[in-house]
Amino acid sequence: MTYLDTECLAPLISQESINEKVQEYARIIEREYAGKDLLIVMIMKGAFCFVADLVRELKIPACIDFLTCSSYGMRGTVPGELKVHGIERLDVKGKHVLLIDDIFDTGRTLSEVYSRIKLLEPEAVGSMVLLGRNTEREVVYHPDHVLFQVEEDAFVVGYGLDYKEQYRGLPGICVLHHHE
Ligand code: 5GP
Ligand code: MG
Repeated sequence: MTYLDTECLAPLISQESINEKVQEYARIIEREYAGKDLLIVMIMKGAFCFVADLVRELKIPACIDFLTCSSYGMRGTVPGELKVHGIERLDVKGKHVLLIDDIFDTGRTLSEVYSRIKLLEPEAVGSMVLLGRNTEREVVYHPDHVLFQVEEDAFVVGYGLDYKEQYRGLPGICVLHHHE
């Protein structure tokens, strides 16, 4: 028995499926950004596994930087105030920025980050998320690329995504049942 052998975790997307999709989307990024000054901006911490795998697949040059966003924190699954740190530090002038996040849920995070990056006058801003949900949303912004869709009511962990800072190291994506 390990801490992972719990009835609360149900495998949803395997490491193999993720690998396949990451390769497919690396090719898409290569086509879209060939010959352009690409800056990948990952939204920490949830996107760290995704970006680490993606950039190692890329066969075009890319700068990598990050910013930090948090809305859940130690409260678990109840969204709180959205905090964004580290935007001022980014050097985006003249760059084709590709924002990368783990999951597009209400869309608040990505649309907020998108608007703030736009103000810094990059050449262009695109976005990619590992996971998306088909839900009714208040925000109009939508990511350019979504690798997988997950159910509206599933809270997922693993491959960077956490529940109270746990489970980020799982190699695949699992649904977390019976939390809180
Ligand atoms: P949004 O601002 O789009 O509502 O939420 C995006 C952020 O909420 C994600 O970057 C992630 O940190 C968190 N989030 C939303 N849904 C889930 C989920 O099912 N599991 C986990 N671990 N985080 C989630
Ligand atoms: Mg989170």
